[in-house]
Amino acid sequence: MTILIRDALLDNQVTSVLIEGGRIRSVGATVTDTPVDRVLDGSGLHLFPSFRNSHTHVAMVLFRGYGDDMPLMEWLQTRIWPAEGKLDADDVHAGARLGILEMIRSGTTFFNEMYWHRGALVRAVEEMGVRAMLGANLLDLGDPEALRRQKEEILELVPAGEGEGRARLALAPHSVYTVPPAELEWVGGLAHDHDLRIHIHLSETAGEVERCVEEHGCRPAEHLDRLGLVGPHLIAAHGQYLDEAEMELLAGKGATVVTNPLANLKLATGGIFPYAQAKRAGLRVCIGTDGAASNNNLDLIEEMKMAALLQKHREADATMLPADEVLSLATTVPAELFGQGTGRIEEGEPADLILVDLSEARTQPVHDPVSALVYAASGMQVRTTLCDGQVLMHDGIVEICDEEEVIRKAVEVARRVTV
Ligand SMILES: [Zn+2]
Repeated sequence: MTILIRDALLDNQVTSVLIEGGRIRSVGATVTDTPVDRVLDGSGLHLFPSFRNSHTHVAMVLFRGYGDDMPLMEWLQTRIWPAEGKLDADDVHAGARLGILEMIRSGTTFFNEMYWHRGALVRAVEEMGVRAMLGANLLDLGDPEALRRQKEEILELVPAGEGEGRARLALAPHSVYTVPPAELEWVGGLAHDHDLRIHIHLSETAGEVERCVEEHGCRPAEHLDRLGLVGPHLIAAHGQYLDEAEMELLAGKGATVVTNPLANLKLATGGIFPYAQAKRAGLRVCIGTDGAASNNNLDLIEEMKMAALLQKHREADATMLPADEVLSLATTVPAELFGQGTGRIEEGEPADLILVDLSEARTQPVHDPVSALVYAASGMQVRTTLCDGQVLMHDGIVEICDEEEVIRKAVEVARRVTV
Protein backbone atom coordinates (compact mmCIF):
# COMPACT_ATOMS: atom_id res chain seq x y z
CA MET A 1 0.00 0.00 0.00
CA THR A 2 1.42 3.38 -1.03
CA ILE A 3 -0.07 6.59 0.29
CA LEU A 4 0.73 10.15 -0.68
CA ILE A 5 0.00 12.97 1.74
CA ARG A 6 -0.09 15.93 -0.62
CA ASP A 7 0.63 19.57 0.12
CA ALA A 8 0.61 19.47 3.93
CA LEU A 9 2.60 21.93 6.04
CA LEU A 10 5.75 20.69 7.76
CA ASP A 11 7.53 23.44 9.71
CA ASN A 12 5.39 25.90 7.71
CA GLN A 13 6.72 24.59 4.36
CA VAL A 14 4.37 22.96 1.88
CA THR A 15 5.48 19.32 1.78
CA SER A 16 4.33 15.99 0.41
CA VAL A 17 5.06 12.69 2.10
CA LEU A 18 5.16 9.38 0.27
CA ILE A 19 4.47 6.32 2.43
CA GLU A 20 5.16 2.75 1.41
CA GLY A 21 4.97 -0.45 3.43
CA GLY A 22 4.40 1.38 6.72
CA ARG A 23 7.41 3.67 6.30
CA ILE A 24 8.05 7.15 5.01
CA ARG A 25 9.70 6.76 1.61
CA SER A 26 10.22 10.41 0.82
CA VAL A 27 9.52 13.86 2.20
CA GLY A 28 9.67 16.85 -0.12
CA ALA A 29 8.05 19.74 -1.88
CA THR A 30 7.62 18.02 -5.24
CA VAL A 31 4.65 15.80 -5.90
CA THR A 32 5.81 12.38 -6.97
CA ASP A 33 4.68 10.92 -10.27
CA THR A 34 4.88 7.38 -8.83
CA PRO A 35 1.41 5.80 -8.96
CA VAL A 36 -0.03 5.52 -5.45
CA ASP A 37 -2.95 3.61 -3.94
CA ARG A 38 -4.32 6.58 -2.08
CA VAL A 39 -3.85 10.35 -1.99
CA LEU A 40 -4.64 12.28 1.20
CA ASP A 41 -5.12 15.98 0.64
CA GLY A 42 -3.13 17.78 3.31
CA SER A 43 -3.72 21.34 2.03
CA GLY A 44 -3.76 23.82 4.88
CA LEU A 45 -3.11 21.09 7.47
CA HIS A 46 0.01 20.79 9.65
CA LEU A 47 1.95 17.54 9.76
CA PHE A 48 3.33 16.32 13.07
CA PRO A 49 4.61 12.98 14.34
CA SER A 50 1.79 11.19 16.17
CA PHE A 51 1.81 11.18 19.98
CA ARG A 52 2.89 8.36 22.31
CA ASN A 53 1.15 7.98 25.67
CA SER A 54 3.78 6.46 27.96
CA HIS A 55 1.54 5.58 30.92
CA THR A 56 -2.14 4.74 30.92
CA HIS A 57 -4.83 2.21 31.83
CA VAL A 58 -6.85 2.50 28.65
CA ALA A 59 -10.02 0.60 29.61
CA MET A 60 -10.50 2.96 32.57
CA VAL A 61 -12.29 5.31 30.16
CA LEU A 62 -15.27 3.24 31.38
CA PHE A 63 -14.96 5.12 34.70
CA ARG A 64 -14.57 8.58 33.23
CA GLY A 65 -16.42 10.96 35.53
CA TYR A 66 -17.44 8.17 37.94
CA GLY A 67 -16.54 9.51 41.36
CA ASP A 68 -14.82 12.82 40.68
CA ASP A 69 -13.74 15.15 43.46
CA MET A 70 -13.18 12.37 46.00
CA PRO A 71 -10.11 11.61 48.14
CA LEU A 72 -7.86 8.99 46.48
CA MET A 73 -8.44 6.05 48.88
CA GLU A 74 -12.19 6.65 49.24
CA TRP A 75 -12.48 6.92 45.44
CA LEU A 76 -10.58 3.64 44.94
CA GLN A 77 -12.41 1.75 47.69
CA THR A 78 -15.98 2.89 47.07
CA ARG A 79 -15.99 3.44 43.30
CA ILE A 80 -13.12 2.08 41.22
CA TRP A 81 -12.30 -1.27 42.87
CA PRO A 82 -15.93 -2.47 43.20
CA ALA A 83 -16.63 -1.53 39.56
CA GLU A 84 -13.38 -3.09 38.32
CA GLY A 85 -14.29 -6.29 40.16
CA LYS A 86 -17.27 -6.69 37.80
CA LEU A 87 -15.25 -6.36 34.57
CA ASP A 88 -14.75 -9.45 32.44
CA ALA A 89 -12.47 -9.75 29.39
CA ASP A 90 -15.17 -8.57 26.95
CA ASP A 91 -15.87 -5.51 29.12
CA VAL A 92 -12.18 -4.58 29.11
CA HIS A 93 -12.15 -5.11 25.34
CA ALA A 94 -15.09 -2.72 24.92
CA GLY A 95 -13.46 -0.14 27.23
CA ALA A 96 -10.10 -0.43 25.47
CA ARG A 97 -11.72 0.13 22.08
CA LEU A 98 -13.34 3.33 23.34
CA GLY A 99 -10.03 4.52 24.82
CA ILE A 100 -8.14 3.73 21.62
CA LEU A 101 -10.82 5.48 19.56
CA GLU A 102 -10.34 8.57 21.72
CA MET A 103 -6.57 8.34 21.18
CA ILE A 104 -6.92 8.03 17.40
CA ARG A 105 -9.19 11.10 17.42
CA SER A 106 -6.62 13.08 19.42
CA GLY A 107 -3.53 11.93 17.48
CA THR A 108 -2.07 9.19 19.68
CA THR A 109 -0.90 5.97 18.01
CA PHE A 110 0.95 4.24 20.86
CA PHE A 111 0.27 3.65 24.54
CA ASN A 112 2.20 1.99 27.37
CA GLU A 113 -0.46 0.09 29.27
CA MET A 114 -1.04 -1.61 32.59
CA TYR A 115 -4.39 -3.37 33.16
CA TRP A 116 -6.22 -6.65 33.64
CA HIS A 117 -7.33 -9.05 30.90
CA ARG A 118 -4.27 -8.53 28.71
CA GLY A 119 -5.65 -10.84 26.00
CA ALA A 120 -8.63 -8.53 25.50
CA LEU A 121 -6.26 -5.56 25.22
CA VAL A 122 -4.17 -7.35 22.58
CA ARG A 123 -7.35 -7.93 20.57
CA ALA A 124 -8.43 -4.30 20.85
CA VAL A 125 -4.98 -3.01 19.79
CA GLU A 126 -4.84 -5.30 16.76
CA GLU A 127 -8.38 -4.41 15.67
CA MET A 128 -7.86 -0.67 16.06
CA GLY A 129 -4.51 -0.51 14.22
CA VAL A 130 -2.48 1.25 16.91
CA ARG A 131 0.68 0.19 18.76
CA ALA A 132 0.92 -0.65 22.44
CA MET A 133 3.13 -2.12 25.09
CA LEU A 134 0.74 -4.19 27.18
CA GLY A 135 1.99 -5.01 30.65
CA ALA A 136 1.26 -8.37 32.23
CA ASN A 137 -0.08 -7.30 35.62
CA LEU A 138 1.18 -8.32 39.02
CA LEU A 139 -0.67 -7.01 42.06
CA ASP A 140 -0.94 -8.61 45.52
CA LEU A 141 -4.49 -8.15 46.77
CA GLY A 142 -3.82 -10.25 49.89
CA ASP A 143 -5.07 -13.42 48.18
CA PRO A 144 -2.19 -15.90 47.66
CA GLU A 145 -4.22 -17.89 45.13
CA ALA A 146 -4.82 -14.79 42.96
CA LEU A 147 -1.13 -13.90 43.11
CA ARG A 148 -0.18 -17.44 42.09
CA ARG A 149 -2.55 -17.26 39.10
CA GLN A 150 -1.05 -13.95 37.97
CA LYS A 151 2.44 -15.42 38.16
CA GLU A 152 1.35 -18.46 36.14
CA GLU A 153 -0.10 -16.21 33.44
CA ILE A 154 3.15 -14.26 33.30
CA LEU A 155 5.17 -17.46 32.96
CA GLU A 156 3.02 -18.48 30.00
CA LEU A 157 3.68 -15.17 28.25
CA VAL A 158 7.39 -14.53 28.84
CA PRO A 159 8.97 -17.25 26.67
CA ALA A 160 7.80 -15.38 23.53
CA GLY A 161 9.63 -12.22 24.69
CA GLU A 162 8.48 -8.68 23.87
CA GLY A 163 7.33 -9.69 20.36
CA GLU A 164 7.58 -7.72 17.15
CA GLY A 165 3.99 -6.85 16.29
CA ARG A 166 1.94 -3.80 17.23
CA ALA A 167 0.95 -5.29 20.61
CA ARG A 168 4.06 -6.00 22.68
CA LEU A 169 4.68 -7.54 26.06
CA ALA A 170 6.08 -5.90 29.19
CA LEU A 171 6.00 -6.92 32.85
CA ALA A 172 3.84 -4.67 34.99
CA PRO A 173 4.23 -5.08 38.74
CA HIS A 174 1.82 -2.43 40.06
CA SER A 175 4.07 -0.67 42.63
CA VAL A 176 6.48 -1.21 45.52
CA TYR A 177 3.57 -1.07 48.00
CA THR A 178 1.33 -3.63 46.25
CA VAL A 179 3.95 -6.19 45.18
CA PRO A 180 6.07 -7.95 47.85
CA PRO A 181 9.90 -7.82 47.56
CA ALA A 182 10.17 -11.52 46.63
CA GLU A 183 7.78 -11.04 43.70
CA LEU A 184 9.53 -7.86 42.59
CA GLU A 185 12.83 -9.70 42.57
CA TRP A 186 11.21 -12.48 40.54
CA VAL A 187 10.01 -9.90 37.99
CA GLY A 188 13.52 -8.42 37.81
CA GLY A 189 14.93 -11.86 37.00
CA LEU A 190 12.32 -12.58 34.34
CA ALA A 191 12.86 -9.18 32.71
CA HIS A 192 16.57 -9.88 32.58
CA ASP A 193 16.24 -13.45 31.28
CA HIS A 194 13.64 -12.65 28.59
CA ASP A 195 14.79 -9.13 27.69
CA LEU A 196 11.51 -7.53 28.75
CA ARG A 197 10.64 -4.05 29.96
CA ILE A 198 9.19 -3.38 33.40
CA HIS A 199 6.34 -0.87 33.77
CA ILE A 200 5.63 0.18 37.38
CA HIS A 201 4.14 3.05 39.41
CA LEU A 202 6.89 4.72 41.46
CA SER A 203 6.95 7.51 44.06
CA GLU A 204 3.48 8.85 43.28
CA THR A 205 2.73 9.96 46.86
CA ALA A 206 4.71 11.02 49.95
CA GLY A 207 2.95 8.22 51.88
CA GLU A 208 4.37 5.58 49.53
CA VAL A 209 7.92 6.84 50.16
CA GLU A 210 7.44 6.95 53.96
CA ARG A 211 6.05 3.43 54.01
CA CYS A 212 8.90 2.10 51.87
CA VAL A 213 11.49 3.67 54.18
CA GLU A 214 9.69 2.22 57.24
CA GLU A 215 9.27 -1.29 55.82
CA HIS A 216 12.40 -1.70 53.73
CA GLY A 217 14.82 0.86 55.16
CA CYS A 218 15.26 2.73 51.87
CA ARG A 219 13.41 4.91 49.36
CA PRO A 220 11.40 3.30 46.49
CA ALA A 221 13.97 3.65 43.66
CA GLU A 222 16.71 2.24 45.90
CA HIS A 223 14.35 -0.60 46.92
CA LEU A 224 13.80 -1.49 43.25
CA ASP A 225 17.53 -1.32 42.61
CA ARG A 226 18.34 -3.69 45.48
CA LEU A 227 15.83 -6.14 43.99
CA GLY A 228 17.43 -5.93 40.54
CA LEU A 229 14.74 -3.98 38.67
CA VAL A 230 16.59 -0.78 37.80
CA GLY A 231 18.08 -0.66 34.31
CA PRO A 232 17.36 0.63 30.79
CA HIS A 233 14.27 -1.62 30.71
CA LEU A 234 12.60 0.13 33.70
CA ILE A 235 9.75 2.55 32.95
CA ALA A 236 8.47 4.17 36.14
CA ALA A 237 5.26 6.21 36.15
CA HIS A 238 4.96 9.41 38.22
CA GLY A 239 8.23 9.86 40.16
CA GLN A 240 6.92 12.98 41.88
CA TYR A 241 8.71 12.20 45.14
CA LEU A 242 12.03 10.96 43.77
CA ASP A 243 14.92 12.72 45.51
CA GLU A 244 18.15 13.76 43.85
CA ALA A 245 20.02 10.55 44.71
CA GLU A 246 17.18 8.44 43.27
CA MET A 247 17.16 10.54 40.08
CA GLU A 248 20.89 9.96 39.70
CA LEU A 249 20.50 6.25 40.38
CA LEU A 250 17.74 5.89 37.76
CA ALA A 251 19.56 8.08 35.22
CA GLY A 252 22.87 6.29 35.76
CA LYS A 253 21.26 2.97 34.94
CA GLY A 254 19.33 4.29 31.92
CA ALA A 255 15.79 4.04 33.37
CA THR A 256 12.83 6.21 32.30
CA VAL A 257 10.28 8.20 34.32
CA VAL A 258 6.84 9.07 32.93
CA THR A 259 5.21 12.23 34.23
CA ASN A 260 1.38 12.37 34.37
CA PRO A 261 0.61 15.90 35.48
CA LEU A 262 -3.18 16.01 35.08
CA ALA A 263 -3.90 12.82 37.03
CA ASN A 264 -1.54 13.93 39.81
CA LEU A 265 -3.31 17.27 40.04
CA LYS A 266 -6.82 15.79 39.98
CA LEU A 267 -6.09 13.19 42.64
CA ALA A 268 -4.21 15.79 44.67
CA THR A 269 -1.25 13.48 45.20
CA GLY A 270 0.76 16.59 46.05
CA GLY A 271 4.09 17.77 44.70
CA ILE A 272 5.05 18.49 41.14
CA PHE A 273 7.43 16.22 39.23
CA PRO A 274 10.93 17.75 39.63
CA TYR A 275 11.67 17.94 35.91
CA ALA A 276 14.61 20.34 36.24
CA GLN A 277 16.35 17.92 38.64
CA ALA A 278 15.58 14.99 36.36
CA LYS A 279 17.07 16.86 33.43
CA ARG A 280 20.18 17.78 35.39
CA ALA A 281 20.62 14.14 36.35
CA GLY A 282 20.25 13.13 32.67
CA LEU A 283 17.13 11.07 33.34
CA ARG A 284 14.94 10.15 30.36
CA VAL A 285 11.43 11.59 30.79
CA CYS A 286 8.26 10.80 28.82
CA ILE A 287 4.68 11.92 29.32
CA GLY A 288 1.43 10.03 29.91
CA THR A 289 -2.21 10.66 30.76
CA ASP A 290 -2.65 7.86 33.32
CA GLY A 291 -6.20 6.38 33.25
CA ALA A 292 -9.13 8.52 32.16
CA ALA A 293 -10.84 7.88 35.51
CA SER A 294 -8.36 10.36 37.01
CA ASN A 295 -7.69 12.76 34.12
CA ASN A 296 -10.52 12.69 32.66
CA ASN A 297 -9.39 12.17 29.06
CA LEU A 298 -6.51 10.76 27.02
CA ASP A 299 -5.66 13.98 25.17
CA LEU A 300 -1.88 14.37 25.09
CA ILE A 301 -2.13 17.96 23.86
CA GLU A 302 -3.76 18.96 27.17
CA GLU A 303 -1.18 16.91 29.02
CA MET A 304 1.76 18.59 27.27
CA LYS A 305 0.42 22.05 28.02
CA MET A 306 -0.16 21.18 31.67
CA ALA A 307 3.32 19.66 32.02
CA ALA A 308 4.97 22.75 30.56
CA LEU A 309 2.93 25.19 32.68
CA LEU A 310 3.50 23.24 35.90
CA GLN A 311 7.27 23.23 35.39
CA LYS A 312 7.33 26.97 34.67
CA HIS A 313 5.30 27.50 37.83
CA ARG A 314 7.41 25.14 39.93
CA GLU A 315 10.71 26.78 38.99
CA ALA A 316 9.24 30.32 38.72
CA ASP A 317 10.94 30.37 35.33
CA ALA A 318 8.96 30.92 32.12
CA THR A 319 11.75 29.37 30.04
CA MET A 320 11.31 25.95 31.67
CA LEU A 321 10.11 23.03 29.51
CA PRO A 322 9.43 25.01 26.31
CA ALA A 323 6.93 23.87 23.66
CA ASP A 324 9.35 21.94 21.44
CA GLU A 325 10.86 20.14 24.44
CA VAL A 326 7.51 19.08 25.91
CA LEU A 327 6.45 17.91 22.43
CA SER A 328 9.54 15.68 22.35
CA LEU A 329 8.37 13.95 25.58
CA ALA A 330 5.28 12.78 23.65
CA THR A 331 6.96 12.05 20.30
CA THR A 332 10.71 11.56 19.74
CA VAL A 333 11.76 10.43 23.24
CA PRO A 334 9.15 7.63 23.55
CA ALA A 335 9.54 6.65 19.87
CA GLU A 336 13.22 5.87 20.48
CA LEU A 337 12.52 4.27 23.85
CA PHE A 338 9.84 1.93 22.54
CA GLY A 339 11.67 0.99 19.31
CA GLN A 340 9.59 3.06 16.86
CA GLY A 341 12.41 4.84 15.06
CA THR A 342 13.28 8.46 15.80
CA GLY A 343 9.70 9.77 15.92
CA ARG A 344 10.61 12.35 13.26
CA ILE A 345 9.03 12.86 9.86
CA GLU A 346 11.99 11.72 7.82
CA GLU A 347 12.77 9.23 5.08
CA GLY A 348 12.88 5.64 6.33
CA GLU A 349 10.98 6.32 9.57
CA PRO A 350 7.78 4.47 10.53
CA ALA A 351 4.74 6.32 9.15
CA ASP A 352 3.11 7.28 12.45
CA LEU A 353 1.77 10.74 11.60
CA ILE A 354 -1.03 13.19 12.18
CA LEU A 355 -2.50 16.11 10.26
CA VAL A 356 -3.78 18.93 12.45
CA ASP A 357 -6.11 21.74 11.41
CA LEU A 358 -4.71 24.89 12.97
CA SER A 359 -6.95 27.15 10.86
CA GLU A 360 -9.60 27.38 13.59
CA ALA A 361 -10.08 30.57 15.58
CA ARG A 362 -8.45 29.18 18.73
CA THR A 363 -5.13 28.56 16.93
CA GLN A 364 -4.91 31.57 14.59
CA PRO A 365 -2.60 33.19 13.73
CA VAL A 366 0.11 30.52 13.62
CA HIS A 367 3.44 32.23 14.30
CA ASP A 368 4.97 28.91 15.30
CA PRO A 369 3.17 25.59 14.59
CA VAL A 370 4.65 23.84 17.66
CA SER A 371 3.52 26.65 19.96
CA ALA A 372 0.05 26.58 18.35
CA LEU A 373 -0.14 22.81 18.83
CA VAL A 374 1.08 22.67 22.44
CA TYR A 375 -0.38 25.84 23.96
CA ALA A 376 -3.51 26.65 21.92
CA ALA A 377 -4.81 23.56 20.11
CA SER A 378 -7.18 20.84 21.26
CA GLY A 379 -6.97 17.14 20.41
CA MET A 380 -10.24 17.68 18.51
CA GLN A 381 -8.24 19.56 15.84
CA VAL A 382 -6.46 16.37 14.75
CA ARG A 383 -8.04 15.54 11.38
CA THR A 384 -6.00 12.57 10.14
CA THR A 385 -4.12 9.84 12.02
CA LEU A 386 -1.83 7.22 10.46
CA CYS A 387 -0.12 4.39 12.30
CA ASP A 388 2.35 2.03 10.66
CA GLY A 389 1.35 3.52 7.30
CA GLN A 390 -2.34 2.70 7.79
CA VAL A 391 -4.98 5.43 7.73
CA LEU A 392 -6.95 5.14 11.00
CA MET A 393 -8.80 8.44 10.57
CA HIS A 394 -8.90 10.87 7.67
CA ASP A 395 -10.56 14.26 7.47
CA GLY A 396 -12.26 13.63 10.80
CA ILE A 397 -13.77 10.29 9.71
CA VAL A 398 -12.54 7.28 11.71
CA GLU A 399 -11.97 4.46 9.20
CA ILE A 400 -10.62 1.69 11.39
CA CYS A 401 -13.86 0.93 13.26
CA ASP A 402 -17.55 1.70 13.48
CA GLU A 403 -17.27 4.67 15.82
CA GLU A 404 -20.91 4.68 16.97
CA GLU A 405 -20.81 0.98 17.77
CA VAL A 406 -17.58 1.32 19.78
CA ILE A 407 -19.06 4.13 21.87
CA ARG A 408 -22.42 2.39 22.34
CA LYS A 409 -20.86 -0.89 23.53
CA ALA A 410 -18.54 0.84 25.99
CA VAL A 411 -21.35 2.94 27.43
CA GLU A 412 -23.45 -0.21 27.95
CA VAL A 413 -20.59 -1.82 29.89
CA ALA A 414 -19.95 1.34 31.91
CA ARG A 415 -23.64 1.62 32.90
CA ARG A 416 -23.75 -2.03 33.97
CA VAL A 417 -20.59 -2.11 36.10
CA THR A 418 -21.09 1.22 37.86
CA VAL A 419 -24.52 0.46 39.35
ZN1 LIG B 1 -1.30 4.65 36.60
